[in-house]
Amino acid sequence: MPNDFDRVVDTLPGIAFTASPDGAFGYVNHCWRAYSGLSLEQSAAMGWLSVIHPADRSHMLAYWASATRRGHADDIVIRLLRRDGLYRRFLLRANAMCNEDGQLAKWCGLFIDIDTLPAQSSQQQSDKMDVTSIIDSIPAMVAFMTPDGELEQVNRQINDYIGLPFDALKNWSTSGTIHSQDLAAVTAAWTHSIHTGEPYDIELRIRRFDGVYHWFHVRGLPIRDQQDRIVRWCVLQVDVDERKRDKALIVKALREVSASEDRMRNLIDAVPGFVWSAAPDGSVSFVNQRWCDYTGMTADQSRGSGWTATVHPDDAQALEEYWVKLLALGHAGEFEARLRRFDGAYRWFLIRTVPQRDESGAVASWFGENTDIEDRKQTERLLAGEKLLFGMMAAGSPLSAILGKLCELVEVMVDDCGCCVAVVDQKRSHLSTDAGLRLQTCASPNAPSGLIQLGDNSGAGVDTCPTMAAAVLNAPVIVSDLTEESRWERWRAVALEQGVRAIWALPITSTGLDVTGVLAFYPRAPATPSPEQNNLIAQFTHLASIAIERARADAALMQSEAFLAKAQRLSATGTFSWRLGADDIICSEEMYRILEVDTSVRPTLDLLYQRIHPDDVSTFKEALRLARAPGRDFEHEPRLLMPGGKVKFVHLVAHLIPDARGELEYIAAVQDVTQRRVSEETLSKVRSELSHLARVASLGAVTASIAHEVNQPLAGIITNASTCLRMLGAEPPNIEGARETARRTIRDGNRAADVIKRLRALYAKKSISIEDVDLNEAAREVIAMILGEMQRNGVMIQPDFADALPTVQGDRVQLQQVILNLILNAAESMNKVSSRSRRMLITTRVNENHDVNLAVRDNGSGFDLQDSERLFNAFYTTKNTGMGIGLSISRSIIERHDGRLWASVNEGPGATFQFSIPQGLDRSSPACDEPLASQDLNDDERHAERDLK
Ligand code: ADP
Repeated sequence: MPNDFDRVVDTLPGIAFTASPDGAFGYVNHCWRAYSGLSLEQSAAMGWLSVIHPADRSHMLAYWASATRRGHADDIVIRLLRRDGLYRRFLLRANAMCNEDGQLAKWCGLFIDIDTLPAQSSQQQSDKMDVTSIIDSIPAMVAFMTPDGELEQVNRQINDYIGLPFDALKNWSTSGTIHSQDLAAVTAAWTHSIHTGEPYDIELRIRRFDGVYHWFHVRGLPIRDQQDRIVRWCVLQVDVDERKRDKALIVKALREVSASEDRMRNLIDAVPGFVWSAAPDGSVSFVNQRWCDYTGMTADQSRGSGWTATVHPDDAQALEEYWVKLLALGHAGEFEARLRRFDGAYRWFLIRTVPQRDESGAVASWFGENTDIEDRKQTERLLAGEKLLFGMMAAGSPLSAILGKLCELVEVMVDDCGCCVAVVDQKRSHLSTDAGLRLQTCASPNAPSGLIQLGDNSGAGVDTCPTMAAAVLNAPVIVSDLTEESRWERWRAVALEQGVRAIWALPITSTGLDVTGVLAFYPRAPATPSPEQNNLIAQFTHLASIAIERARADAALMQSEAFLAKAQRLSATGTFSWRLGADDIICSEEMYRILEVDTSVRPTLDLLYQRIHPDDVSTFKEALRLARAPGRDFEHEPRLLMPGGKVKFVHLVAHLIPDARGELEYIAAVQDVTQRRVSEETLSKVRSELSHLARVASLGAVTASIAHEVNQPLAGIITNASTCLRMLGAEPPNIEGARETARRTIRDGNRAADVIKRLRALYAKKSISIEDVDLNEAAREVIAMILGEMQRNGVMIQPDFADALPTVQGDRVQLQQVILNLILNAAESMNKVSSRSRRMLITTRVNENHDVNLAVRDNGSGFDLQDSERLFNAFYTTKNTGMGIGLSISRSIIERHDGRLWASVNEGPGATFQFSIPQGLDRSSPACDEPLASQDLNDDERHAERDLK
């Protein structure tokens, strides 16, 4: 709500406003609202500011702030926006109203429209208005000063910038408008100009309405009248603050750049390589100090293409071509080349360069860096050389070729130096005295030949030549200048004549530290090996030592291989190794010969099986299986069947060893025992024929004796019987005579029975020798005896003996007779078997009664169950040539050992004959005197005998 005062203001005919003492909005009158189109509310607070021309706003605010601060307001020209969008200029005049106490109570302001003011009456006023509008339109701060230096007029830009009305500006030297630090200089300069009329030109800081000082370039020029009197000064103030700041920044930046340039130079010189730069055309413009130190060139000398003088002649062309290509492509690149050191030595460098481009993308310059890679190159060369040498060693190249390559490597790596390797003659080296040592040059691609011959032909001794001295002393012999040496006169003369100026002879030692050779260097200038060369030399001697030792080991191996091959040949024994996991088999040459397989064929288990006689394959496989599962040694004697049908007997002994990885491997020796077997067989055949003959002969004898002995009583019996018949048939019958002849008949019958008895007694063994008998062993002996016979008959014997079988007491020979008899019977029972392999299983064990049991099981013809007891009767036989007494005698023998012999029919084909004997009984006096006959006879026979008696 407008108060009374506001209502008064409303009645004023011009635009007016009120404000509180602190300058805050109070009221705007009706004319304001009509002019601006803003309501009271819209004008309230700072809303009125929107009516002020934007260019005048800051000025207005500064003015108003200053007025309220001071309690006094000067006039100010302001443009106000009319509601139709036009600006008009107004003179603002504000007055402070005080209350009775003299305190500021309110502000009241009036805007006087000066655009509608009537034109000034005087020309001067009109001129002033013109000048004002002109200088106001100058986009710079312009002021006019009176000839004596008083401020006469300022343009609006000054008012706007400083934010003070003209009156306040008048006292510029005290108002704080000029920076206190510049005031003295400004005053002095201004005073000077006033006095002299010289232009005024100074830079100073002027405070802006917001209190911030800006740098200005202030220039004052006098305006003179026609009499050349100064009528006023025109002063132009240009804001150079930004330029000034930029300049300061530039100065600072320049200072920093120069500092960083120094730092950069220090850095560049500290880089461990060479740093350089070149122009886009490749001509070098800069090299760092290190480059100069290394090459011994000055920076000037290296400029342009001067640096190329340091490149090794062998690398120069390639480097140049590469550089030209790089310049054309504008790519970064790198190249390896040797650069000469100030002392003439060359070292390898990796030269790297990158182009630097300008904004257009064109190469502005090239920067480069060279790194010393000599050590890496040396290592690479050494590695490549070592690789080559080891490759040669692995490939079995001759020692001379390997050492020759070594010498070439040495000569590449040690400058200006011939080299040779002499090897100790091993055949003589066991003689430890000097006189026994002999060196033989093995490789000397570029060493002076005269010296080499001298070294080789020398008798041995430290005085002969340096290489020999190194070998004998087992110590390096280094002579850096031969002209100052007095030893080895003859050798030295030749050396100097051939251009050798120094000698380095290094012993090559084996792992056992014996001297195996000498590595000799022949420098063509006086020289001592550098530490790096010493390292190289150590590596070379090591390489040579490996090569020599390897060659010696190869030679020894070849020799022992030759010995072995010869021994295998002589003993007809082949060897093979068999790795179980991989079934990997390696055969010796002799093994191939035994198998009659070409050495190019890869041996396999199948190949072995193919060669083994078909009848023995299953036993062989079984033996392998038994040995393989627990992994134990085994021995076997299989037959081999060669492709031509030839049969070979071999004895195989295989020893099991775990290899380094824990896998099992058999090392086996296979001896061709055919020859021995054939001899044995022939022998056994002869033996068996002999025994057969003997049997036939003894049978014949027995038969003859039986015939002879029995014939007489039989003749007597027949005669007596016919006499008896005749006497009984007479009339009357001669009873007494018949009785007599019948008595004679009985007598003759008894005589015949006696003969038989006596014959039986002949077969009976009167006494047996008692001992501890190991049935396993006894059976093994029997098997060994008849194995050949069995093999001939195609019978395969499979022994399966119990371990730790207790012994029995008895007659070893008799028990073996029983075993033999059972085996022969079993073999004979299989004679006609052809549909299956003929197998005989011989087992020993301790049975449930703790008796020792031996069983022979065959898969032959077998027998009828009801015959199982008859078989043991004397003279029971089913064979044409059989006697039928074997089993009968065998049973009597076993029974005399308190044992039992019986036969059973197998579930499958064949029969099993077995006996059991109590273990370990004392049998020192067995009932052995009784003749076999009465024990062996069955009931029928016993009756007959009784009848005969
Ligand atoms: P021979 O020498 O006449 O064979 P033996 O007393 O040794 O006399 O054997 C008697 C008989 O027992 C044989 O003729 C044979 O009929 C039978 N015999 C012996 N061993 C076996 C066997 N392993 N299988 C089948 N029959 C057998």
